[in-house]
Amino acid sequence: ASLYRIDGWGTPYFSVNSSGNIAVRPYGADTLPHQEIDLMKVVKKVSESKSAGGLGLQFPLILRFPDVLKNRVESLQSAFDYAIHSQSYESHYQGVYPVKCNQDRFVVEDIVEFGSSYRFGLEAGSKPELLLAMSCLCRGSPDAFLVCNGFKDYEYISLALIARKLDLNTVIVIELEEEVDSVIEISRKLLVRPVIGVRAKLRTKHSGHFGATSGEKGKFGLTTMQILRVVRKLEQAGMLDCLQLLHFHIGSQIPSTSLLADGVGEAAQIYCELVGLGAGMRVIDIGGGLGIDYDGSRSTDSDLSVGYGLEEYAAAVVQAVRYACDQKFVKHPVICSESGRAIVSHHSVLIFEAMSATVADKQTMSSFSPGLQYFLDEITEEARASYRNLCAAAVGGEWETCFLYADQLRQRCVQQFKEGSLGLEQLAAVDGLCDSVSKALGSSDPVCTYHVNLSLFTSIPDFWAIGQIFPIVPIHRLDQRPGVKGILSDLTCDSDGVVDKFIGGESSLPLHELNGYGGGNGGGYYLGMFLGGAYEEALGGLHNLFGGPNVVRVSYSDGPHSFALTRVVPGLSCGDVLRAMQHEPELMFEVLKHRAEECGHDDEMAGTALASVLARSFHSMPYLTTAATCGITDNNA
Ligand code: PLP
Repeated sequence: ASLYRIDGWGTPYFSVNSSGNIAVRPYGADTLPHQEIDLMKVVKKVSESKSAGGLGLQFPLILRFPDVLKNRVESLQSAFDYAIHSQSYESHYQGVYPVKCNQDRFVVEDIVEFGSSYRFGLEAGSKPELLLAMSCLCRGSPDAFLVCNGFKDYEYISLALIARKLDLNTVIVIELEEEVDSVIEISRKLLVRPVIGVRAKLRTKHSGHFGATSGEKGKFGLTTMQILRVVRKLEQAGMLDCLQLLHFHIGSQIPSTSLLADGVGEAAQIYCELVGLGAGMRVIDIGGGLGIDYDGSRSTDSDLSVGYGLEEYAAAVVQAVRYACDQKFVKHPVICSESGRAIVSHHSVLIFEAMSATVADKQTMSSFSPGLQYFLDEITEEARASYRNLCAAAVGGEWETCFLYADQLRQRCVQQFKEGSLGLEQLAAVDGLCDSVSKALGSSDPVCTYHVNLSLFTSIPDFWAIGQIFPIVPIHRLDQRPGVKGILSDLTCDSDGVVDKFIGGESSLPLHELNGYGGGNGGGYYLGMFLGGAYEEALGGLHNLFGGPNVVRVSYSDGPHSFALTRVVPGLSCGDVLRAMQHEPELMFEVLKHRAEECGHDDEMAGTALASVLARSFHSMPYLTTAATCGITDNNA
């Protein structure tokens, strides 16, 4: 576990059990030992053939753990509840989930259900996101916020106002100054009183990769001058009471609570000023930014980690809002946050299989020849001793010792050369020998390439796009010391389709030798990518036409295995991904069948077999399968 830093990034949801497998702890820190879910047992059940009692699903797989999702929502709520109570804050916390982080219907529905007793709402940033948020919130708490962010056109604003008419607690957040004109105009036409928010462009700047939208030059939000103009327009329209929410977002993965407190403090001052100007202010919405510790280092100077937990985050927010409001004698507002990454990252695990490995060549004694015999008489006795020691170490394959003697030999020979007692040719031969020893040393610890049944562009797009690193770990055999170092090469024909950076700044991952595992030989070698529940699914593309994997929902259950498979959503088939590119699989099948007939394969037996392999191809997934599943039977058998 320590090799993969699981105690750091995995706590409290992932650990290693006594069988050497990754265990999922569905209730986080409150999980009892008998409630832990053995990930390998889930993988076996999901992938085993139907006849053996499994689901017969192919890799890669996304396993979703709704209990973990529920625990995240509850933990966030209780961190704020605790901070509010302990600081005698006189209002409450009411979060929203930004659906952009993972728009999957069942994820959003789960969050709405789990959060309904906390009035947990949703945030949308586009028209389709608004449509899904509207329909999901029909089953949520009537007080839950539906926060409408993003750039808006006439249609978006109309839709948001209709949502208000449907008694959804909708807030239209003004991101561009001109949006307020449309809100005033359309709300009059639709005879609906809107609730309006403004997004402030703060001076506080988050300097990490995810902070590019913050600061005065940030892409989003209104400057102080623009906010004042919006206030005046609303006042003139008799709608200043509609302005009720102040929003800001300084970027994802806020590294420290000091930066957070700085941003929240600045926003709280703007909030108080708006109260002073007569707006109907009630809510401060602090955006996203609650970070995840991907490498378990708790460091504040990398995008991969953050230096706080949920409790410290909530305490810093409550304190900063309270301080500014108390200073100005302003009633404490409802605190809303739009935490996405922190809610959905942990609940989903991507499982994929290593199919084969290419092992780098090791330099052996047989391919190493020191070869200085012809001028041994010309070098000093000390240099000869270094050479003899070097040869002895090489026989034993002790490359590090070899390297030390080679270096000693070179220094002694260089000295002799300087003194004029050794020729240039001999010195070059010594240099050549030293180089081959260093090469041997480098290749004695080779990095292997593991070929994995996965598309990085579909399943880990942020690795390719922005170099984001996720914890990747074998999910079994963790009671055995991994014998090799490897990088992971995906199925695409793209040279970028390689994972060669890992947490801890490592350029390779400790892996177990396949030794018969892998490649669909029964017992595969399975790896998991963790903490990828936010953003990766929506950002993933169709490069090489590899589509989204099968998704299985795994809930805690009291039974002997402590889990139940509660939903399966099949991944995209070859036909599905072709359709996404405007091909018509049915037509393609007919064209190919016709061609088979033209080629003389139309006698009944052969024709039917060909047609069924073709038909099956459209229905199968683009990822690698074993020959046994593709439907070809041996006619000679
Ligand atoms: N709110 C807004 C406006 C955002 O742009 C984002 C994402 O960048 C979020 C919320 C979610 O942020 P996070 O995933 O850091 O919680």
